[in-house]
Amino acid sequence: MHRFEGKTVVVTGGNKGIGLALARRFVDEGANLVIGSIDADVEDTAAKLGDAGRVRGFRCDVSSKPQVEALYDFAAGTFGQIDVSVQNAGIITISKVEDLTEAEWDATLAVNTKGVFLCCQTAIRHMRAQGRGGRLINTASGQAREGFIYTPHYAASKFGVMGVTQSLAKEVALDAITVNAICPGIIETDMWDYNDRVWGKMLGDYGPGELMRDWVQNIPMKRAGQGRDVAGLVAFLASDDAAYITGQTINVDGGLIMS
Ligand code: NAD
Repeated sequence: MHRFEGKTVVVTGGNKGIGLALARRFVDEGANLVIGSIDADVEDTAAKLGDAGRVRGFRCDVSSKPQVEALYDFAAGTFGQIDVSVQNAGIITISKVEDLTEAEWDATLAVNTKGVFLCCQTAIRHMRAQGRGGRLINTASGQAREGFIYTPHYAASKFGVMGVTQSLAKEVALDAITVNAICPGIIETDMWDYNDRVWGKMLGDYGPGELMRDWVQNIPMKRAGQGRDVAGLVAFLASDDAAYITGQTINVDGGLIMS
């Protein structure tokens, strides 16, 4: 399928993990792509995904408004427009309540919630000026449905993503801009490796990979998710077929959380 030929897509955190799988999917489906990330390898990763006429990387911190504005100005300046923006960049730490620092709380909310808002805000400005509608997809988490132990800051940040999504969806509906959120469950990435290691130790001295194996037993499909599982949903929400879907939060978790 070439659903995104002639369209420009921005994916934050697109240089690794889930974001890299999203980036690959959009390139495979014909999009012009800009990946934005705080990591130093973002331009190299973009160059591996496609030639500079189709794929570019841009280093930025999504919690900084000037840097977010620079990312979207770069995307619009390079490819002439912005049609889809996927707010995927995110961070997690795991701490017992009395150890959780104010700095951890602030950083998590700054990247996961404010960062999503700043990217939506800036993309909306471009999309409204273009007058052709658009698609915004925000990465929440199973923790936007149910807070897990030792991560109140992360749960708050991801519940916040749902609120941002619903509020903006109402504000931009008449501009033909849709705003939806996704809730990945357990997806095998570096972030999950960290979760496995740190939660594993805190919850019962699990060895490497053991917590993951335990939790996978709670998934009706009995397997962890892969980036490509998430990419299928995101590509659908970004496509013309999803024109009448907005303000929704959709789980992609093999049935882990059914609420
Ligand atoms: P990851 O750690 O592999 O990748 C995170 C990405 O975010 C990286 O590209 C990193 O550069 C980028 N990033 C972090 N801070 C940034 C900042 N300030 N500015 C710009 N970029 C920044 O993580 P992942 O597992 O691929 O997670 C991607 C998204 O999915 C996150 O929002 C995460 O919360 C969410 N999620 C992941 C899982 C999972 O099991 N892996 C489950 C639910 C939700």
